[in-house]
Amino acid sequence: MDTVIQKFRSALGGFNRQDVQTYIEETAAAHRKELAQLQERLEQAEGRTAELEAALSGQGPAPETRPCPVCGRPALLDGRRRYCSEACARAALREQKRDYMRKKRGW
Ligand SMILES: [Zn+2]
Repeated sequence: MDTVIQKFRSALGGFNRQDVQTYIEETAAAHRKELAQLQERLEQAEGRTAELEAALSGQGPAPETRPCPVCGRPALLDGRRRYCSEACARAALREQKRDYMRKKRGW
């Protein structure tokens, strides 16, 4: 709170009104931007959920899957995901690091 208060030049009997106004507007603008980004991500996620629900109930095309490179279970393809689960992604990352270290050391 101290850092916030330091932003405002003190004026007779309180804070500089314009400073406070500007601060509030800037904060509100930053929050609006953040909110818009979150809203967009939510909409993408909801769209994805609807697609998968349609697929599960047999009304939509089956989602494209491929075997998880770690455990072999079918994993959904959606561009970003490469593994079936967070655990497999971590396992794969560990493996990559190990390979990298091995090559680096010349084993
Ligand atoms: Zn897996």
